[in-house]
Amino acid sequence: MPKTTPEPPITLPAEFNAWLLDCCPVQGCKVCAANYKQLKICEGRGDITQAARHATEIRDHAGGKHESGRAHGCETDAPSA
Ligand SMILES: [Zn+2]
Repeated sequence: MPKTTPEPPITLPAEFNAWLLDCCPVQGCKVCAANYKQLKICEGRGDITQAARHATEIRDHAGGKHESGRAHGCETDAPSA
C-alpha cells in the first residue's frame, strides 16, 4: 500500500516554519517592529505564508537598510509553543 495521505494538512514542519520566520528585527526600528508584530499575528492565526512575508521584510530591512550595522538587537527568541 503506497504511502498516501488522504487529506494532507497544509501545515509545514515546525522547523520549516522556524526557518521561514527566522529574522532579526532591529531594536528601535519601527519598520522592523511593525513587521515583527504582524509576523507574530499571522503566525498566531496560522498564516505562515503571510508571516514569512513579514520575516522577509525584516531580513531585508535588518540586512540592508540599517546603517548602524552591529546595533541590531537580535531577538531570535525561541518560540515557546
Ligand atoms: Zn528595520
